[in-house]
Amino acid sequence: MCSEDIPRGLVAVPEPTRRRFLATAGAVGGIATATALAGCTEDVPGVGTGHLSPDEAIIENTYTGLSKRSDGLSLRKLIESSDAAAPDNQLRGAHRMIWDVGTEQPYVALSFDDGPDPRWTPQVLDALAEVGAQATFFMMGWNVDHHRELAHRVIDEGHEIGNHTWSHQDLAFQDPETTRDQIVDGKRAIQDILGVDTTWFRPPRGELSGAAMRILAEHDYDTFLWSVSRNVPGVGTPELVADHIVERLRPGAIIDMHDSIGRGLFLPQDDRIVRSLKAKRDVDVAAVPAILKGGMDAGLQFVTMGQLLDSATGPAALTPATLEDVNLPQGPTTDVPRTSVG
Ligand SMILES: [Zn+2]
Repeated sequence: MCSEDIPRGLVAVPEPTRRRFLATAGAVGGIATATALAGCTEDVPGVGTGHLSPDEAIIENTYTGLSKRSDGLSLRKLIESSDAAAPDNQLRGAHRMIWDVGTEQPYVALSFDDGPDPRWTPQVLDALAEVGAQATFFMMGWNVDHHRELAHRVIDEGHEIGNHTWSHQDLAFQDPETTRDQIVDGKRAIQDILGVDTTWFRPPRGELSGAAMRILAEHDYDTFLWSVSRNVPGVGTPELVADHIVERLRPGAIIDMHDSIGRGLFLPQDDRIVRSLKAKRDVDVAAVPAILKGGMDAGLQFVTMGQLLDSATGPAALTPATLEDVNLPQGPTTDVPRTSVG
């Protein structure tokens, strides 16, 4: 494990210097960037070793990046030093990180995290069924275990599911063992209870670590983030949430919504934060019919993540998220988002 061994002095370095360190490390190779992003420097030659005192070496390396100490620093060594590193020959193939999808079809994918939850999931399912739309549900293993019938209903109605960990721990702050437990326990709950072998993962709060990326790859997971979310300050109203989302829809968009409250389930239910989260979810779920109508009125079709991926024509990154592009299929919004709500 590396994070425990990061010398204190390194953390105290001002952000601009740290950025310089990251940029230099990244120039060595793409995977080396993952090493630096994981915050792991313990095995990079020169850090805390050699003729300099540990503190001097930290400063030297931090201020100069790797440029003065690249002797014998192979990409292999960098990879081996990373929390994200794969032991030789154990990992194969591409495990993707997906924000949105380049497509010529008028497809968008609605996704719901944290459920299934009896307070919100049935309303979402009813709204989807009303217009014949499909969605993808990234479920918490704990919720699948506690609401089995509801979880089965999601599948029975033709929606797809993915893993959203066992109990919604933020993986950026967990040690590798806990990270593995969160991912594997979520996977097993879905497998044992629903008979579905998930290969899609969404990290709680969109947060990952190097260890999380490695463990996800070991389990054949693609990781789905999103290109559109509620992003309305405070609780908001269903109209505000629906308007915000519909204005940003374009072909290939992945919309992130919620049908439960994540870690809030495990806090005292009269806690102010929990009450606020629940109020938000009430608003979000009430916005679903208007989001569906707004998208469909603009000629878009709500499909599962699998259907969206099947329609992919190229790297989504080639399609600008906010700028007008004449080559894009015409969705309702290629406008630059209003800064007042962005
Ligand atoms: Zn979540």
